[in-house]
Formats: sequence, C-alpha cells, structure tokens
Amino acid sequence: MVEFTPEQQAFAQAVRDFCEREVGTREQRAKYTADGPHSEELYRKMAELGWAGIIVGEEYGGAGAGNVELCIFLEESLRGMAPVGGIGPTFITAAAYERFASEELKKEVLANVVAGDSLSIAMSEPEAGSDVANLSCRAEKVDGGWLINGQKTWISNAAIASSILLIARTERTDKKHEGITQFHVPAGTKGLEIVPIETLGGREQNDLYFTDCFIPDDYVVGEVNQGWWQLMAGLNTERLILGAMQLGLAERSFDDTLKFITERKQFGRPVGTFQALRHRMADHATEIECTKLLVYSLAAKADANPTKMFPREASMVKLKSTEVSKAMTIDGMQMMGGYGYTKEFDAEALMRSAIISTVYGGTNEIQRDIIGKTYGL
Ligand SMILES: Cc1cc2nc3c(=O)[nH]c(=O)nc-3n(C[C@H](O)[C@H](O)[C@H](O)COP(=O)(O)OP(=O)(O)OC[C@H]3O[C@@H](n4cnc5c(N)ncnc54)[C@H](O)[C@@H]3O)c2cc1C
Repeated sequence: MVEFTPEQQAFAQAVRDFCEREVGTREQRAKYTADGPHSEELYRKMAELGWAGIIVGEEYGGAGAGNVELCIFLEESLRGMAPVGGIGPTFITAAAYERFASEELKKEVLANVVAGDSLSIAMSEPEAGSDVANLSCRAEKVDGGWLINGQKTWISNAAIASSILLIARTERTDKKHEGITQFHVPAGTKGLEIVPIETLGGREQNDLYFTDCFIPDDYVVGEVNQGWWQLMAGLNTERLILGAMQLGLAERSFDDTLKFITERKQFGRPVGTFQALRHRMADHATEIECTKLLVYSLAAKADANPTKMFPREASMVKLKSTEVSKAMTIDGMQMMGGYGYTKEFDAEALMRSAIISTVYGGTNEIQRDIIGKTYGL
C-alpha cells in the first residue's frame, strides 16, 4: 500500500475538502461547466491556494513541490470531479517551459500558470499521430524570427490557453527526429486560426492552422533542432500526470459504483451483495491499488533522480492507469444497470473521459511497444 507522509496526507485531504465544498454535488458542477469542461473560475480558486503552480519552481512564484505532491493533487482533483479539463496539458506544457525556455519566457509564462492560466502543447498532425516525429508543420527562418505554415490537430485546450507550445519542423534531414524545434506561441498571434473539433467529450480538442505566422527568435523554446530530445526529457512527468489523473478517475468510478450497488436493492437485498458484483468490486479495488503503487513508485523515483529517464516505468504507468480506468468505468456502468446509462448519474461522463485515455499521450499499443523494447524485443 502507498504510504504518504503526514504533510502529504494533509495535502490530499485539503484537495478533497476543496472539491467536496466547491463541486461536491452535480448542481455545483453544472454551475461551473456551463461554458465547457474547463472552469476558469474554479481553476483560479485552485490557483489562489497555490495549486496551479504546484510543480513550478519557487523562483517563478510556484510551490516547487515534487512529483508525489503533483500526483496527489491530480488524483484528488479527478476523484473529486473538479471540472478543470485544462489541468493535464497545462502541467505537461509548464514543465517543458521550465526545463528549456529562456529566463524571460519562464518569468512570463510560469507566472501566468501560477495565476491559473491554461497552456497547451501542439505536436500531432493529420499525418503525424503515433508517428509524431513525422511532423511537417514548417518553421522557415526569416529576418528576426520564423514563419510558421502548416496544421496541427487534436490540440487539447488550445482555444482557452494563454500560450501554446508548438513543435515544428525547422530542418528536413533523412533522420525524422532531427530538425524539430519548439516555439512559444501566445494566444491571439496573427496567422494562427483555432477550430474546435466535435468529440464524444465535447469541444476540448482543436485544429490549429498556421498561415505565414511570424514568431520572433526570442520565442524559440530551448535549442533550434533539439525539439525532439526536449520532448523526450518530459516523458516521466507527462506519463505521471496522465497516470495520476486516470487513477483519480478510476477511484471516483469505484466510489460511485460502490454507493449505488450498496443502495440499489433487487430480490430483497443490495445488488452489491451478489457474489457476481462483489467479486468484481474486489478486482476493481485490487486494480486501483496496483495502479496507485505504480504511479507513486515512479513519482518517488523521479523525485529522487530528477534527470533520469524511466521509459519502462513511465509507459507502464500510462498503460496500466488508462486500461484500468477504461475497464472500470465501463464495468461500473454495467453494475449500475440502466441507471449507469442515464445522465442522472456520473457513470456515463466518467466512461467518456476514460475511454479515450488509451489513445492520447501515445496510444497504449505504442506504450506496449516501448515496454517491449526495454526488454530488447
Ligand atoms: C482527446 C485527445 C486529446 C489529445 N490531445 C493532444 C494534445 O493536446 N496535443 C497533441 O499534440 N496531440 C494530442 N492528441 C493526439 C494524440 O496524441 C494522437 O491521437 C495519438 O498519438 C494517436 O495518433 P492518431 O490518432 O493519429 O492515431 P494513429 O497513429 O493513426 O493510430 C491508429 C491506430 O493504429 C495504432 N498504431 C499506430 N502505429 C502503431 C505501431 N507502430 N504499432 C502498433 N500500433 C500502432 C494506434 O495505436 C491506433 O490504435 C490528442 C488526441 C485525443 C483523441
């Protein structure tokens, strides 16, 4: 079992209490989600408590906490169903800025993150999904900066982000991982059009169209042509973020299912007392505990070795957490009978969130490939 320090337990409880107080009922959540799955109002309240800058360094106004605290915050926020859909991409992108951006950019962008702004990261393209290094959105050198032309797709929260971290091609060699560069693109930059995509989960993802979009030299994040290796340096953090979020989601599904099957009676007794359901709940609880151990053991390892990459463990975290949340939310609906299918309960919303998690952040087929390769296969 995962053991937290007294401080970490108190922090988890504080996030839990916040969610209970602000979004503990469906009516409260509905108030916050009238404009979409990310409530800026709620996120700014979290920011006032210092949580939006939890992993941002203290020199940039953040809390400078480690990966364990980051995971606690995300796990509890998702378990509490806080409608802050922009949180994952924001943290992933903020960590990339902190690692590689210039001091001037860090001061500006990370201060915004600490205050509750959202960020977004643009890698994927119509022809560069799993094979993302095949990207072709082009940045051409011009006097004083770069001219961007091309398309990005699936970009989460781009429409609400105050800036987007763009991954573009600056050079074409016979090695596709070379010649990639990261750029800071503030919201509203001329030459960038953002078009939302309709999905099962709403309109969180977006197509981005760049047409002769000028980005000054100062907005290069890190080194020109080193963008791929900069991306790889963020994989521990990215997969921990996704893992902790799906862990929280699975826990919420478990909590809600347990409550329902304890209250719902058929044949004169709670349906949860039928062995067919009781055993499945025992399996769910065990899967959650396995996921929790994986997430927090990687978080602790990454805290102890901040510059070391853990490709096998990071992919295992992403794979396990997302498969568990997907399977559990679908099975949770089954155990709720017809009620799980209605909008009267949260089961269908949890299922819609979980079901796509095996695709984004590198599909689970790709995660299995990475894990297999670490065994020399
Ligand atoms: C909800 C959502 C949010 C997203 N957010 C972002 C974002 O913020 N920023 C961003 O840049 N991108 C984002 N993406 C894009 C996401 O990372 C890609 O969708 C994902 O990498 C898969 O690419 P694809 O959809 O083109 O599928 P494809 O790569 O076309 O894959 C199709 C199928 O083939 C399988 N496959 C492909 N190659 C292999 C292989 N070598 N071995 C085995 N199987 C393989 C895949 O696993 C998949 O099942 C998001 C996507 C979604 C759906």
